[in-house]
Amino acid sequence: MKTGADRIGIMGGTFDPIHNGHLAMAEAVREAFSLDRVLFIPSGKPPHKRRSEIADKQHRYNMTVLATNSNNAFEVSPVEVEREQLSYTVDTLKILKEEYKDSEIFLVMGADALCDIESWSRVDELLKLCRVVGATRPGIDIDEFKREIEKIQRQFNVQILHVHVPSLDISSTDIRERAKRGSSIKYLIPEEVEKYIYKYKLYR
Ligand code: ATP
Ligand code: MG
Repeated sequence: MKTGADRIGIMGGTFDPIHNGHLAMAEAVREAFSLDRVLFIPSGKPPHKRRSEIADKQHRYNMTVLATNSNNAFEVSPVEVEREQLSYTVDTLKILKEEYKDSEIFLVMGADALCDIESWSRVDELLKLCRVVGATRPGIDIDEFKREIEKIQRQFNVQILHVHVPSLDISSTDIRERAKRGSSIKYLIPEEVEKYIYKYKLYR
């Protein structure tokens, strides 16, 4: 019998497209913090990214579903793609807090996203709604990552968790560029996502 509150990881992203770096990070955090599940939340209109050629949110959502199918602990939430307004994480967290009343929420973010957190909307409010987990990411210096964590902890008087993720130097930007020039994207993304990209001729 399970006792205590559910522990839910929240993994937000544009997922344009979702790749193995995202999946490895979610799995590392799930294991490190004994999470019951990880909710992937593809963004609707991301405030950070106003790139006009961003793939349709339905495609990004579908690819996220395909990529997470084989992991029983992974789920995908349509909460942001269904919203018409810009998606601010703090608003999403409030909705999830209502939905998962007795759960403890762990907001997972890669080192680059964490180093950017102060530019997010209503950070102090956000930090009261969840525990933040920073994950290592290739390209972000580990010392810079640690300094940033300490800075946020001091500034907002919170404890930031962190986890080491096996280094996968993969980004959606690189996948899109490869797809555009016709280079291989095999083994960087799940096979189902690769097939989906070719089927719908994305990122050409
Ligand atoms: P883009 O190149 O379009 O910015 P991305 O690969 O950075 O795409 P996002 O959707 O922007 O992917 O990232 C969602 C979350 O996943 C962020 O918190 C980001 O830091 C994290 N993340 C992405 N790729 C990795 C990776 N290879 N290792 C660890 N964390 C990652
Ligand atoms: Mg990014």
